[in-house]
Amino acid sequence: MLRSVILAAAGSARMERFVANAPISKNIVHRFVAGDGTEDALRVSRELADDGLAVSLDHLGEDTLTAEQAEATRDEYLRLLGRLKESGLTPATEVSVKLSALGQKVDDRTAYDYARAICAAAAEAGTTVTLDMEDHTTTDSTLEILAELRKDYPTTGAVLQAYLRRTEGDCRELAASGSRVRLCKGAYAEPESVAFQSALDVDKSYVRCLNILMAGEGYPMLATHDPRLIAITEDRARWFDRDPSEFEIQMLYGVRPDEQARLAAAGYTVRVYVPYGDQWYGYLMRRLAERPANLAFLGRALASRK
Ligand SMILES: Cc1cc2nc3c(=O)[nH]c(=O)nc-3n(C[C@H](O)[C@H](O)[C@H](O)COP(=O)(O)OP(=O)(O)OC[C@H]3O[C@@H](n4cnc5c(N)ncnc54)[C@H](O)[C@@H]3O)c2cc1C
Repeated sequence: MLRSVILAAAGSARMERFVANAPISKNIVHRFVAGDGTEDALRVSRELADDGLAVSLDHLGEDTLTAEQAEATRDEYLRLLGRLKESGLTPATEVSVKLSALGQKVDDRTAYDYARAICAAAAEAGTTVTLDMEDHTTTDSTLEILAELRKDYPTTGAVLQAYLRRTEGDCRELAASGSRVRLCKGAYAEPESVAFQSALDVDKSYVRCLNILMAGEGYPMLATHDPRLIAITEDRARWFDRDPSEFEIQMLYGVRPDEQARLAAAGYTVRVYVPYGDQWYGYLMRRLAERPANLAFLGRALASRK
């Protein structure tokens, strides 16, 4: 219930203005977001790389409605990839891209063209791209664009969300050789017709999908902070005889950093998803929806606003 209310607020322009204008909001944002600019993203990538962690950088922004915005997003990724290469931060740092930020909801051909340009720049920089997955109305279009991109850039990563009823089938389709697939629980408010609603059903689906990916021929990227699912991942890696180089664990910047360090020290590849940019509102609200304790933190901060 609380989760649905927060996710509804994520789409509210009025709420966005209220939160964004609170002076204290920046402190909360910086727990989860590297900063506003390209150089902030590079600085945090370097710090994490020094700690033995891999990185996926996400330039914040979604639901782009104009061609200019989509072009600006593409250009920022091209600039970022150039700077990553110059700074020697590839291949340990890859990029995550939301097709909606490239105008998918307006024209999916443009989103494809821009994603392709980003994949080409990533290949040139010695790294790769993962296509983030958004709400269920975009799943088919995103998987179609992924299939096209993989013809020339086969390492382009997919994201599948365990809360969707369709995802076991998608895991079977994508568990092929060389296929990089990030499995997460899913972060959007979805109707019962397409998504499991209880945490237990989502967790059970996650484990079924994990089994399919671990048994398959691809490269699973298990994105979760859930201690039980991480323990099951470690167990299944042993069961399916997967070397730590044959899968990775992914977590979000600012969430369970001690666990990230523990897993890296144990020999796993741990990739930290690091968002940057000034369009942080939707991302922050999804993080708050995941953990009511984070919401209490925001509430206290807003109450003290001058
Ligand atoms: C690398 C990465 C990429 C992702 N990409 C996508 C994507 O493309 N599309 C998509 O829909 N979703 C994406 N997600 C989000 C994901 O779907 C979940 O919403 C999110 O990871 C929370 O689920 P969880 O598996 O951590 O389990 P939960 O049950 O939400 O959390 C388990 C435990 O982890 C800790 N925790 C979790 N979240 C937080 C938080 N925000 N702050 C503090 N502690 C927390 C708490 O201790 C909690 O009890 C991504 C997540 C990760 C880690």
